[in-house]
Amino acid sequence: MPTYSHSRLESYQNCPRQFKLHYIDKIEVEEEGIEAFMGSRAHEALEKLYKDIRMTKVPTLEELLAYYEQQWDKNWHDGIKIVRKEYTPDHYREVGRRAVAEYYEQHQPFDESRTIALEYKVAFPIDEAGDYTMLGYVDRLAVAKDGTYEIHDYKTSGRLPTQAQADKDRQLALYQLAVRDMWPDVKQVDLVWHYLVFGKEIRSRRTSKQLDNLKQDVMARIRTIEADSDFRPRESALCDWCAYPPYCPAKRHEFEMSELSPEKYASENGVTLVDKYAELDTRKTEIERDLEQVKAALIKYAKDKEIEVIKGGGHRVMVRFYKGLALPRKDEPGRRELEELVKAEGLWEQVAVMSPVSLSKLVERGALDTELARKISDMGRQEERPWVKLSKLRRGSN
Ligand code: SF4
Repeated sequence: MPTYSHSRLESYQNCPRQFKLHYIDKIEVEEEGIEAFMGSRAHEALEKLYKDIRMTKVPTLEELLAYYEQQWDKNWHDGIKIVRKEYTPDHYREVGRRAVAEYYEQHQPFDESRTIALEYKVAFPIDEAGDYTMLGYVDRLAVAKDGTYEIHDYKTSGRLPTQAQADKDRQLALYQLAVRDMWPDVKQVDLVWHYLVFGKEIRSRRTSKQLDNLKQDVMARIRTIEADSDFRPRESALCDWCAYPPYCPAKRHEFEMSELSPEKYASENGVTLVDKYAELDTRKTEIERDLEQVKAALIKYAKDKEIEVIKGGGHRVMVRFYKGLALPRKDEPGRRELEELVKAEGLWEQVAVMSPVSLSKLVERGALDTELARKISDMGRQEERPWVKLSKLRRGSN
């Protein structure tokens, strides 16, 4: 039975190739971003806090922070990656420490709600037929004094969402679906995010209608994933935190080049080809501009002298002026009316040209009726179309 989770859907949303490398190809990587590492340690500390409380033992803040520090040291490994080079591991360690301490101080004596589960695994069917399972882990499930269920989630992200963004969040709403599934008598559920770095709590609620819409939205996303066969890389700022550049067609060359000496880098085949291509492209643009300027000067020269042939050293140029009818071009005023007239008069077939590129795009976008798309597809063939685009490197890239 196919299994999905909020993380899987988010991974595909961020970059389909990353999703494929992680969840389909299951490529194992040692690398772990320090932000994720710090988040895991803060989660462990808060899990321990509530485990102890359940056993009637409230740890002191010092004990809890000692546990956080101990977990940090115990789990530290060589694969931890720091993208923001201006910060050291100690900066991150301190951010996590302060986040845990602030949570403790804000919530002691921890009697706002009763914890019923910690790091609770939820799995439930997301579609009517029960063919797809959604999986997730609730950081803390609790019941408030008025009987409201609370789904708590700890975040150590450095970005605080707005209330409007929280109200649209998918992750905890999915967990609410699981809670509704497991305890049908649940009346009210609060979704609670603890943005630990900001010492801020955000709450949200969902109606049954919103939850039903969410199910449909999730299924539509799953169908998109399952229909994908390319899993194209989607480059973004998130690439800096991605563990898969050595396996990614968009980043592998850059990754491999970063390991070369400056001399080897400068003479590497791909590097020299790109530099040559960029140089020729720049010259082409300059030449095209110069050509237009010289052409305009020749036209003026011929007009001023009332001649139509200008003789050069080894070439001659002919300049002639024709008077003719200029009809509105695409996007010019009057174009639509002209096309309507041509169609109404039965001239369309004689003057219009079919664009196979536009037609194949309609088929590929699924914009045509299935049967028609099939008939058109049967008349064509699958072929690989190279697409080459030159762009400037981002500042700071190699
Ligand atoms: S490096 Fe960037 S483009 Fe490549 S898989 Fe990772 S996130 Fe996607």
